[in-house]
Amino acid sequence: MKDLNVLSEQTVALPASPYHARHFIDGAACDSADGATSERISPSHGVLVSTAALGGPRETEAAIGAARRAFDDGRWSRLSGKARAEVLNRVADLIEQNAERLAVIETLESGKPLTQARGECGGAADLWRHAASLARTVQGDSHNALGDDMLAMVLKEPIGVVSIITPWNFPFWILGQKLPFALAAGCTCVVKPSEMTPSTTAMLAGMLTEAGLPAGVCNIVLGHGDPVGALMARHDDVDMVTFTGSTGVGKTITKAAGDTLKKVALELGGKNPQVIFPDADLEQAADAVTFGVYFNVGQCCNSSSRIIVHEDIADDFVARVVALSRQVAFGNPMNPDTQVGAIVTKDHQAKIDAHVKGAVEAGAEVCLGGAALDVPGIGGQFYQPTVLRGVTPDMAIAREEVFGPVLSVQTFKTLDQAITLTNDATYGLSAGIWSDNVHTCLEFARRAQAGTVWTNTWMDGFPDVPFGGVKQSGQGRELGRYGLDEFMELKSVVMRVGKTRTPWVKAP
Ligand code: NAD
Repeated sequence: MKDLNVLSEQTVALPASPYHARHFIDGAACDSADGATSERISPSHGVLVSTAALGGPRETEAAIGAARRAFDDGRWSRLSGKARAEVLNRVADLIEQNAERLAVIETLESGKPLTQARGECGGAADLWRHAASLARTVQGDSHNALGDDMLAMVLKEPIGVVSIITPWNFPFWILGQKLPFALAAGCTCVVKPSEMTPSTTAMLAGMLTEAGLPAGVCNIVLGHGDPVGALMARHDDVDMVTFTGSTGVGKTITKAAGDTLKKVALELGGKNPQVIFPDADLEQAADAVTFGVYFNVGQCCNSSSRIIVHEDIADDFVARVVALSRQVAFGNPMNPDTQVGAIVTKDHQAKIDAHVKGAVEAGAEVCLGGAALDVPGIGGQFYQPTVLRGVTPDMAIAREEVFGPVLSVQTFKTLDQAITLTNDATYGLSAGIWSDNVHTCLEFARRAQAGTVWTNTWMDGFPDVPFGGVKQSGQGRELGRYGLDEFMELKSVVMRVGKTRTPWVKAP
């Protein structure tokens, strides 16, 4: 499309040869016993950018066994919080030192812009530092009012061996939302990244060793969801699974984990609305909506894929968003000026297009985009910024996660209607409200069914603030104190003080 801002120029060179990612089991990097590998072709450039060991049951069993032994012998779980924090802080330093290397491979495997990958990979160091600080805060409760002769304590203990399964859209960031918090709690881990983006997780292995993490405490197995992830979810020696990915796979994992009743934490999909009132700063709101829908090409659990805009300002507001959409720089991810990159696979691009075509058939009107996008010189695995109006709540486009740069516009007249539309969803990850009236914002925040409510902003997040979803967007929380608690069990210790116990058996 001529009137879009498409950048084809490439200013950062591709690496001379593909990266080879290996498993990391019991402290050693290794290939698969049968020599199997997978290949990743860059979504944006169509060239081979990495090869990876392709694991199976044998590697998964070995990794789980190593994590089990490492947990049970206490080499990590019985260290002081201070000692664990020192290791996590050293990992954070190493992540910062390696941020550019990580960012380049993440860009090439995922198709996201280099600038964004730099922010994600370098920024993950802060997650590790925050988790390190929490490692020194593990404390329970005491009960000192149970009577003179009784005292009880509630101890927090690491839950044990944790399986960590991550998606392709923010591979290094999502790993950072889970792994350092599990390690801070004293758990040992088996990690499986997405088969499409294995390399940054594999690169972390060397940093863990250099930082002094004992062998076996974190193990990484590369491979497909089935068999590797499936075994990690059902294995007897695993105490907890933490998963980020699609709602469908989240349900499969929950069933697989059910036989052993292990704990399951899930971060799943979303259909996140931003509600815009006429009294809002419309310039800011339009910019935030544009950011919310195109960030990571909409391949983002927090994508604000629908807006619910007051009918009095709908025409003006949609015109603003369409104008901004034309200015966003779509194109070559290896150009630091690019804001929006490629779609992860050809299949996914076709799914996005099918969602849009289905919406048009159902009566939605295309205000912008609605088709694949060619970036001169590097190919066609891109999608145009797309804005759809006339979307009604019964349409699939209003309800299903598209995971692409596609915005659906709905309208409302009253706050009650806006809240009804917001909550008319199977998902409940995040929601946003734009208004200058604090009462409107607070009422919305209280009534919206979502794990996070943003008011007059979108997608601001902090390692200190918990993140997660309600309804079919997930269960459990990541980040902050609550994120640490997910990886801990409570144990109650009840003690009698002095020999005051009345015998149960009566003396003859
Ligand atoms: P996906 O569910 O296809 O895959 C995620 C991971 O699960 C991959 O590592 C995959 O190999 C593995 N997997 C697949 N089948 C499995 C099985 N049977 N058992 C165990 N593991 C299995 O998701 P995706 O396409 O990689 O990511 C996109 C999805 O992730 C979207 O729905 C998005 O909303 C969601 N997501 C959610 C959050 C959040 O924090 N809520 C963040 C990012 C992405």
